[in-house]
Order: sequence, then structure tokens, then C-alpha cells
Amino acid sequence: MPELPEVEVVRRGLDAHVVGRTITDVAVLHPRPVRRHLAGPLDFAGRLAGARVDAAVRRGKYLWLQLDTGDALSAHLGMSGQMLVQRPGAPDERHLRVRLDLDDGAQLRFVDQRMFGGLLVAPLVPTPDGLPAGAAAGGPSDPLLPPEVAHVARDPLDPHLDLERLVERLRARRTGVKRALLDQTLVSGVGNIYADEALWRSRLHFARPTDGLTRPVVRRLLADVAAVMEEALAQGGTSFDRLYVNVNGASGYFDRSLAAYGQEGEPCPRCGAPVTREAFMNRSSYRCPRCQPVPRRARW
Ligand SMILES: [Zn+2]
Repeated sequence: MPELPEVEVVRRGLDAHVVGRTITDVAVLHPRPVRRHLAGPLDFAGRLAGARVDAAVRRGKYLWLQLDTGDALSAHLGMSGQMLVQRPGAPDERHLRVRLDLDDGAQLRFVDQRMFGGLLVAPLVPTPDGLPAGAAAGGPSDPLLPPEVAHVARDPLDPHLDLERLVERLRARRTGVKRALLDQTLVSGVGNIYADEALWRSRLHFARPTDGLTRPVVRRLLADVAAVMEEALAQGGTSFDRLYVNVNGASGYFDRSLAAYGQEGEPCPRCGAPVTREAFMNRSSYRCPRCQPVPRRARW
């Protein structure tokens, strides 16, 4: 799955190349990627034709285009979904699923080999807190989002995130700190990689009880989550210059710069102790046994 920084790279590409354009024609080449649009492919196409794209917005790993019709075009990238901006006449990609013609002659193409992802059009709804939904600088000023995102908390890079409220809510939970980081109703878009890297930076074991953490420790941890994401974004944001927007879930930068995640047996960059891997929530957790010791009181 693509992580938040990779989705943000796509959002920025759409912001540069698609916002301000009007959709002139829609071709659904395979029904499966629009299966979440329950009214069917014809309705999907009818809602998009003639609509102008007013903004490209992201919250966590959710990505959508805000349309002047009051609808949102949501993109689920899934395992292999890509949003490409192509010149007309460019040969169809092998796994091209949906093609939108834009009024500047370019095409927005949804390409997806495995088709776990897809597109959906739905009316925008007000944000619960009345603040703009946009997660990144340059987002729209409208307090609107797709209904499927209404229950999703703001993410660590969201300028409208109420940090102190999040600190209090996290400390009020009776759970382990990593479980809290992965809880999308508390803070969204924090995947396994970012949780493990941030916990390593903050020297916290993943099972540290949230109700035992001080406010400064939680603030520091959330700052570490944001910093890891910003660093990944800075390294991964190289594709805006071309008329081509792409995400494939791969993050070569991160393979080279990770301190803990995926580093089982490798020396901790801080103390040299071998990083360990443990089963956690059907996945793995990586930590330094010396910098992040098992707490006396643990919530697994
Ligand atoms: Zn260490």
C-alpha cells in the first residue's frame, strides 16, 4: 500500500496538472475500478462530464478531487493504482481502467493492474469541525470532504490538526502507544513504517501504555511522526516537474534510510544493538531492544 507521503506526491501532481481543468469526456474501460460507485459506470461518467476540478485534497491516505458540482471524485490507489496525466494520443497503458479527457487536451488516467483500488463520485459533506479538509499546504479553503472520509481523523501533516486535543485524546486511551498511532479515528495516515520509525526516534517501546505517557513525550512522538513523513516527502517528491503523476507504493529512499523498520538484525544507528522484529497486530514491529526496552507495565 502507498504510504501518506507517496499519496501526497500524487496530490501535488494533480494539484499542478489537473486543478482548474474541466472534465470533457469520461471512458470507463473496466467496471471493477468503479465498483464502489454503486449507481454504476453510466452514473459515474455522467456526474463527471462537464465538472471542473477545483482542488486536489488529501487526508491521511485518502485522496480526492473537489468538483464545482458539489461532488468529490475519490481515488483509492489500493496496491497498484496509479493516477497518470498523459498527452492525448499517448498509447493506452496495459492496465488502463478509466480515462478522463480534460479541456486543455490532457488526459487523467487511472491505471491499476491488480484492481484493488478504484474511483468513486459522491457528494461532498461538511467537515465535522468546520475547518478546511485539506491536509497539505495549497489545499482548498472549503470545509468539505467525501462522506467516506468523514470519520477519518486529521493526519500529522494537516495544518488544521488540533495537536493539543490529540495529545489529550491519546493520553486518555487505555492502550499501547503503537495501537494508538495506527488508530485512524485518533490520527490518520500513520502506517507501520512511520509508527516504528517515530517510536525509535522517541525511544518508546510500542507497548508503552498511552495513559502513562507525559504530555511532552506525546508531543515529541507526534513531532517525530511528522518529521519522518516530511523527510520521506522531501526525498520522494521528484515527479512534479513532468506531466506525469505516479504512485506505485515503492519508496526507494526509505529502504536506505530506515533506522528500525525492516532492519531485523542490523545495528541500531544510535547504540549498535541488533534491531529485533516481533509479531504485532498481524504484522511486525521493529525496535531497538536497548533504546526501546520492554516497559514494566505494557499494553500489547
Ligand atoms: Zn539503540
